[in-house]
Amino acid sequence: MTVTVRFAPSPTGNIHIGNARTAVLNWLFALRHGGRFILRLDDTDAARSREEYAQAIIADLQWLGMQPAAIARQSRRLALYDEAASRLRAAGVLYPCYETETELALKRKARSMAGRPPIYDRAALELTADQRAALEARGARPHWRFKLPDTTITWRDEVRGEVSIDLATLSDPVLVRADGSYLYTLPSVVDDMDMGITHVIRGEDHVVNTAVQIALTGALGGQPLTYAHHSLLTGKDGGGLSKRLGSLGIGDLRQGGLEPETIVSYCATVASSRPIAAHLDMRKLAQDFELSALSRAPARFDEAELEALNAKLLHAMPWEMAAPRLAALGLDVSESLWEAVRGNIGHLPEVADWLAVVNGEISPVIGKEDADFLRQAAAVLPEEPWDESTWKIWTTAVKERTGRKGKALFMPLRLALTGKPHGPEMSRLLPLIGRARANSRLTQQIS
Ligand code: GLU
Repeated sequence: MTVTVRFAPSPTGNIHIGNARTAVLNWLFALRHGGRFILRLDDTDAARSREEYAQAIIADLQWLGMQPAAIARQSRRLALYDEAASRLRAAGVLYPCYETETELALKRKARSMAGRPPIYDRAALELTADQRAALEARGARPHWRFKLPDTTITWRDEVRGEVSIDLATLSDPVLVRADGSYLYTLPSVVDDMDMGITHVIRGEDHVVNTAVQIALTGALGGQPLTYAHHSLLTGKDGGGLSKRLGSLGIGDLRQGGLEPETIVSYCATVASSRPIAAHLDMRKLAQDFELSALSRAPARFDEAELEALNAKLLHAMPWEMAAPRLAALGLDVSESLWEAVRGNIGHLPEVADWLAVVNGEISPVIGKEDADFLRQAAAVLPEEPWDESTWKIWTTAVKERTGRKGKALFMPLRLALTGKPHGPEMSRLLPLIGRARANSRLTQQIS
């Protein structure tokens, strides 16, 4: 049986880091098992679903490097849901209900006050055909509830271990609205069966739904799937992420200069027994992927952690991987410049600053007390060609000539040559800056 998983967002907004994590866990699982990763757009809510969000989700997945094997839209699969609903009606487990929202709210209140769980009382099951006909004649249109079997559903969750839910504690779920449109539950079960989904990997906010979905799967003649419910990422305040999407949309993180592998690595390792680490090779990351390594405890999302991971990723990024990305940013960078600067950047576009240091115009920083020292240093600049040994040869000569050493020797040279107090090793930068530029920076007049 081919492992088949799905990422099933509703296109009612952009996906954030928490949603992306669900996608990453599904994608890695499929990759690990040579399976299929399907994107299923849960767009039966016509009022809230938008094509622009669907497109943004597709684009975000593509940018993250998670190409789905297929993209399905529930809004185009309504005939399948109609057929399933007919079968359930025929079996007597999908029944019409006529209560209004207000009536239901009153019933819930009354039950709560009587100390009983506020679940639906199944009053509609008692209606006679005549009573239903009378309601319909008055213009009432039914919504349809699934009659939950009187049983406890138990499954072995790949993350949470054994989970048991007594269906008697739940209301019979509404599957079809009065206008004939479908709520999430039925289409989800029908699609999971029709698409041959083997593993459902999703957030723990769906644990209770799973009990209902297993029951519904059974009513439709299917076998339960394997379920894995991961914990959710929370914001710094411990609350849910969705409410404060803000800068956490995948598009925003991309705009902010993060690399896709940073986000995938983070999503793959956060809230798990694995250390949060930067991975350049997704196949290798997938090889080690285990659902059982995911922890049950929620994890706080920390943007600073993501930033630090990006720096680590760039630090380790080989030239072949960096080159096309730098070219896409319009930066004409050599391999040796990349090797020199990759350890000193947090985001790829910062390479532009170092490109200016080796190729362009910068403002050398020259303290008054160092001007003479720098002129003397310029006077002993070796002849070219230069390589990584030139810095040592040159600074030894400067030391002999001026008597300076340590920071007093090195810092003014760095400030004059790069305009910055920190940066890559000067032995690597100096040959890239070249003699003419070095000489002109060292001997610049201070104003
Ligand atoms: N559309 C549902 C959601 O976004 C899908 C849940 C599921 O994976 O079944 O929460």
